[in-house]
Amino acid sequence: MIQHTDLKSLPLAQLKEEIVALGEKPFRAAQLYEWMHVRLADSWEEMSNLSKTFREMLTDRYPLTVLRVVREQTSRIDGTKKFLFSLPDGNLVESVWMRYRHGNSVCISSQVGCRMGCSFCASTIGGLERNLTPAEMLDQIYRIQKLTGERVSNVVVMGSGEPLDNYDNLITFLHMLTDEHGLHISQRNVTVSTCGIVPKMYELAKEGLQITLALSLHAAVDDKRQELMPIAKRYRIGELMEACGEYYARTGRRITFEYSLVGGVNDTQEDAMRLSGLAKAHGCHVNLIPVNPVKERNFVQSDRHRIELFKNKLEKNGINVTIRREMGRDIDGACGQLRRRYMDTDQKG
Ligand code: SAH
Repeated sequence: MIQHTDLKSLPLAQLKEEIVALGEKPFRAAQLYEWMHVRLADSWEEMSNLSKTFREMLTDRYPLTVLRVVREQTSRIDGTKKFLFSLPDGNLVESVWMRYRHGNSVCISSQVGCRMGCSFCASTIGGLERNLTPAEMLDQIYRIQKLTGERVSNVVVMGSGEPLDNYDNLITFLHMLTDEHGLHISQRNVTVSTCGIVPKMYELAKEGLQITLALSLHAAVDDKRQELMPIAKRYRIGELMEACGEYYARTGRRITFEYSLVGGVNDTQEDAMRLSGLAKAHGCHVNLIPVNPVKERNFVQSDRHRIELFKNKLEKNGINVTIRREMGRDIDGACGQLRRRYMDTDQKG
């Protein structure tokens, strides 16, 4: 079977080339782009200002990437919604929709599974299945905007997968998401979270994007970090901090450190002091995440009091710190949990 180009993963300039090669006028590409990326169409047929023959040709030859909702759960606590989507090949990914005062935020997945192996994370348990295409990343947002009927203004790439391990598709996705011909989400409202793949952080710094980079630090010393995150054996904290410095120097955007508090592992006052040192040196904001217990792992959350003490220590040192509100705790909010539960119960019978 001939593999046809995934038209929905093409930025407008490339879509034009593709459409012209098919013998169509360039303005047809702009129409198609608008249908896919602004009107969020779910079929070629509905693109009513295109000729019937053109639509039929597209339907025959080009599968349009549209995700299908398999599960939708709404938190009774805070209204957060979690979606489990089926990709065209049957793989599953999850996304989260959160309503904040400043607008609606969607957390998307960048890969099916993950190969980074962080010890507290559910996404990595079955390893990496495959990368998501730009269209598959975009369509998580598109489906959610259509289903909720509300505009999405913030996007965080903090779901399953390591975005910098799917680098080229991520960059295309970011350009298309923030392009004025598409949803046109402000780059400043987009955050990409990485476990710290140093060479890719340098590459990202050179892309000329105004997005926020979040670094999953989780420990302020190398040996502790290595216990939690295999990637820490490859890149030391010193190298990571240099990469953060370069990112800031090139983009003017401050980095956020993410720090998941794991009871008895990385939540002491000494940990807080060392973390303060790193954050201070780099002018970074710290986002504390009480670890979300995952069935397959036996980590526990630090108790409330310890979390407060940790936060106070950072604040006393002049660090800007937030505790991530645990949205959707009652609906498998943590990365990869819903997909795993679904695969356990619904598919294995
Ligand atoms: N691969 C990217 C995105 C991961 S998800 C990264 O590593 O940054 C976003 C954040 O949630 C990361 O900081 C990740 O380490 C953290 N995380 C994953 N599972 C968690 C859990 N069970 N509890 C708390 N934080 C978790």
